[in-house]
Amino acid sequence: MFFHLIYSHIYCSFAQLFKNQCYRHFYITNIMSKSIRQAITYGLFPAFFILSMLFTYFGMQYDIHSGYLLATVALSTAAVTLFFERIHPKHKKWTIPNNDVGTDFKHALVSMIFLPQVLEALLTSVLLVVALNIAKHVGFELWLNNWPIFLQLPLAMIISGFGGYWSHRMLHEIPFLWRFHAVHHSPGRLYWLNASRFHPFDTTFSYLMSTTPLILLGVPDEILVFVTVWITVHGLFQHCNIDIKLGFLNYIFSMTELHRWHHSLKMEEANSNYGNNIIFWDIVFGTMYYPKDEEASEKIGLHDIEHFPEKYLDQLLIPFQWNKLSKKEKLNEIKMEQEPANIQE
Ligand SMILES: [Zn+2]
Repeated sequence: MFFHLIYSHIYCSFAQLFKNQCYRHFYITNIMSKSIRQAITYGLFPAFFILSMLFTYFGMQYDIHSGYLLATVALSTAAVTLFFERIHPKHKKWTIPNNDVGTDFKHALVSMIFLPQVLEALLTSVLLVVALNIAKHVGFELWLNNWPIFLQLPLAMIISGFGGYWSHRMLHEIPFLWRFHAVHHSPGRLYWLNASRFHPFDTTFSYLMSTTPLILLGVPDEILVFVTVWITVHGLFQHCNIDIKLGFLNYIFSMTELHRWHHSLKMEEANSNYGNNIIFWDIVFGTMYYPKDEEASEKIGLHDIEHFPEKYLDQLLIPFQWNKLSKKEKLNEIKMEQEPANIQE
C-alpha cells in the first residue's frame, strides 16, 4: 500500500508536469490526516528554510564550493515544491499545465541561471574596486564584518530588499517598465516555476538595484551566498501552489498568502506586497496588503490583456510590440461591446 502511494505520486508529479492526465489517479491527499495537512501548511516552509540555511552554513564550514551548495539548494527546493504541490495543493486548478511549463523552463535557464552568473561577474569586477576605494576614503570598512552571521544576513536582506522593493514598484507604476514586468504577471496560475518567469530586462534591472548596494558596502562572499540561498528558497516557495500559511511570519517573509494578492486581476490589489523576499519595506511604505478574513482569488493574471503571448521569444518581444497588442485588445473590446447590440438587432 505504502509503495503504491509513493509510486502513484511520483508518477502523478511527473506526468502532470508535462500533461494533464493525472486527475483520475489516486491521491495521497485523500488519506492525509488533518494534523499532517496542518503540519505541512504551517511547518513546511519554515522548516525547509531553516534546513537550507543550516545546510549552507555547515557546507561552508567544510569548504564545499558555493556553486555546489547553491545548486543543491535550488534543485532540492524545486523537488520539494513540485512534490508538495501534488499532495497538498492550494488550488487543484493550478496543478493543470497551461502551455506554460516549456516557456517557464526557458525563462529559468536565462533568468535563474545564465543572467545572475553574468551579472554577478560584471558587478563584482566593476564595483569591487569602487567598494575598496570607498572603504579606503572613509578609512574604515563599511560593512559590519564583526557582527554574527545571523545578524549580518537580515541586515543584508533589508538593504538589498530596499532596491528590490523600489525596482518592483517602479516596474508596476511606470507604464513603460510595466511592459516588461507584465510577462511575470501574465500566467493564469501560480506554481513553483513561475519564480523564473521574468523578462531578461526585468531580471537585470531588479538584480542591479538589489545587489549593487551590497557590493558597494563590501558585504563578504559568505553573506552573499546566504542571501542567494534565501532568495532561491523564498522565490520558489513564494510562487508555489502549496497550501501554505505563515501566521505572524507573514510580517517577515513575503510568502504565498501575500504574494497571491500581488498577482490579483485587480490592479489596486496587485499594486501591493512588492517585497520579493521580505515584507519589511511594504510595511514601511504602506503597501502591505493582508486582509485577515479573506484569501486571494484563484483567478489571477492581467486584467486588461486576454491573449498574452505564450511562446518564450514572443514574450521577449512583447514590450516592443505593446501598442500593437493594445490595439488588438482594444479591437477585441470594441467587437465584444458591439456584439450584443448586433444580436439585439
Ligand atoms: Zn509584480
